[in-house]
Amino acid sequence: MAESQTSDSRKLLVSLRETLAAASEGQERLDRITSLIAESLGVEVCSIYLFRDSETLELCATEGLKAEAVHQTRLRVGEGLVGRVARSGRVVNTADAPSERGFRYMPETGEEIYSSFVGVPIQRLGEKLGVLVTQSKDSRAFSADEIYGIEVVAMVLAEMTELGAFVGEGEAMGALHQRPATFKGGIGQEGAAEGRVWLHEPRVVVTNPVADDPDVELTRLVDAVDTLRVSVDEMLENSRTTDKEQMQVLEAYRMFANSKGWMRRMSDDIARGLSAEAAVEKEQSAARARMSQVPDAYLRERLHDLDDLSNRLLRILTGQGKDTGAEMPENPILIATNIGPGELLEYGRGLKGIVLEEGSVASHAAIVARAFAIPLIIQAGHIATEALNGDHILVDGEAGVVHLRPEDTIITAFRDKMAMEAKQQERYRSLRDKPAMGKCGTEVKLHMNAGLMADLPSLESSGASGVGLFRTELQFLTVDRIPRRGDLAATYARVMDAAKGKRVTFRTLDIGSDKVLPYMNPLDEPNPALGWRAIRVGLDKPGVMRMQLQALIRAAAGRCLTVMFPFIAQLDEFRDAREMLLAEIERERTLGHILPDKVEIGAMLETPSMVFAPQQFFEMADFISIGGNDLKQFFYAADRENERVRRRYDTLNVSFLNLIEEIVTRCDAARTPLSFCGEDAGRPLEAVCFAALGMRHLSMRPASIGPVKSLIRRTNLEDLRDVIDEARLSGEQSVRPTVKAWLIANAA
Ligand code: PEP
Ligand code: MG
Repeated sequence: MAESQTSDSRKLLVSLRETLAAASEGQERLDRITSLIAESLGVEVCSIYLFRDSETLELCATEGLKAEAVHQTRLRVGEGLVGRVARSGRVVNTADAPSERGFRYMPETGEEIYSSFVGVPIQRLGEKLGVLVTQSKDSRAFSADEIYGIEVVAMVLAEMTELGAFVGEGEAMGALHQRPATFKGGIGQEGAAEGRVWLHEPRVVVTNPVADDPDVELTRLVDAVDTLRVSVDEMLENSRTTDKEQMQVLEAYRMFANSKGWMRRMSDDIARGLSAEAAVEKEQSAARARMSQVPDAYLRERLHDLDDLSNRLLRILTGQGKDTGAEMPENPILIATNIGPGELLEYGRGLKGIVLEEGSVASHAAIVARAFAIPLIIQAGHIATEALNGDHILVDGEAGVVHLRPEDTIITAFRDKMAMEAKQQERYRSLRDKPAMGKCGTEVKLHMNAGLMADLPSLESSGASGVGLFRTELQFLTVDRIPRRGDLAATYARVMDAAKGKRVTFRTLDIGSDKVLPYMNPLDEPNPALGWRAIRVGLDKPGVMRMQLQALIRAAAGRCLTVMFPFIAQLDEFRDAREMLLAEIERERTLGHILPDKVEIGAMLETPSMVFAPQQFFEMADFISIGGNDLKQFFYAADRENERVRRRYDTLNVSFLNLIEEIVTRCDAARTPLSFCGEDAGRPLEAVCFAALGMRHLSMRPASIGPVKSLIRRTNLEDLRDVIDEARLSGEQSVRPTVKAWLIANAA
């Protein structure tokens, strides 16, 4: 790189910084910037186009084009050369613009006399902000070095945080990150919340993009990269993985941290006048732009590594850790790309809502959010890039919609809706101590699902009859080694204490498939949901299940112990698991421990095979609980985690109801109590149909107990049974429309 060019570039950046710092009006400042750049680069025209919305660019300042065109000239993304730069995120550099493919001139600007054209994207960390354009009469192409200089200038412009405020003469639109935005996502946990944004991983803020002294900046960069390399080496050593593929990924990560190309590009940026952190950000922006265009998943992952390393490097350079010293606002609504269950547990109940860019309904974070009854929206677009700490935000967990920086009309409508829901909740609370009894006199027991000690207070507030499903995975998932028997026993005992004599049904560990323990070697199975999971692991490698059973027996000491085994697919699995529990009880007896005064051993019915199991299965089980989430996915061959197929098959399809009826019949014949503990039990319409088909126990999220009880109490279950039977014979695929219409007319 020529020395004179780098020093020119540095001079330009320093003048730019002074202009940015000067106390002039926004538009005036932007105008000064364009003339400064034109003069420094020796071109007749310098223009800045900014995004007005995601599809339109607006000419916001120019030196050289007609002043009347400013804020008047607009073009669509993809239109003309400027639009091409905006769409592709790539530089266009041509000596003869009019002969370039896609060229389109805007007569009002007077640009027809200019031949050469350079367009450089203005983007910040993959977020497109606009296009910086230079034009000149002589037909010259710019050298790679000159282009590089213009990119560095564009980078500094991108750091002007309020660029968007210049669009539409400052009145039509607010600045970027100040406009209202709406995100449509999936529902992880229902409920509504209003609050302020709290970013789980706040963006690192680069306050000084221009270097005072390039030598100092280079030293800072070298030191920071050294620190980064040491931390990556440590991470590799600590990972102690033996998995070959994982090793390769970590090695690739280390390779990037040591990449000479990366280091050289950042050093060049500094020589051009950027500060060390701005140089890191510039390369990160470039990597993100590439990331969005690379179709190959492996390469995209590697670019993602680079992105991650850049974030670490920025933290080292700016001293901004995750903990930025910012204070959590009141009514915090957590925004994150994704979050693990452990991190969510650390936040605890203080959060009013959670919005994730990724996440899935069955993720552990979703389980924790449900346990805390915190509204959760998943798959919410690019909200983590758009939101800023402290932004006003509304989370509508019923509709799966998030309003960021909402307008007054939205706020009013949202608050009205919340008030109506609060009234409804009040009505449900008044039913708390009343039975879930249909108009025909049939009573259904409503239990709650739980998985954390934190769930237990809901037992009293919801009026649940007991805990119909206590998922025991979370105590294993949120720690970095297998929990100790004593600790588990203490937790289970606390859960039973908190239940104050109400029955708690503990389900033994259901790991594998979507629930992989962090300290377990992940198995490479083609279909993990059909793979080595739950009871299959428990029986093949009995050490952990035995330990868990011992902990449960000790926790129950002198009380009733209710245990159920997950994912039973054939009779012998249940027989073996049951015998294992009985053997453990014997062992505890010989060791002199106090035994439970009663033991109930049940099975989860989660595979269609068990509907047709030998009669002995129904007789041997003290109770059976339908795991509808799994049963449905296997019955319909539709992955419960796959958004494309998850909702395709209705629970109230005649075929699924026929299956349920068969289970009810078989349990009745063996006098075995039957419950349903999948998500569908908490949906009022489904719940009332299950009850009409003869199900007498339903277990659901605590928040669903009120709505389900309310509908059951308004329904004559015997009449509903007749309605279902008639609809089943009518040739309809699902009884839902008929049942819904009947309930509207009859469940007053
Ligand atoms: C089910 O499958 O319905 C169930 C309750 O278990 P889980 O959702 O934990 O797999
Ligand atoms: Mg299940």
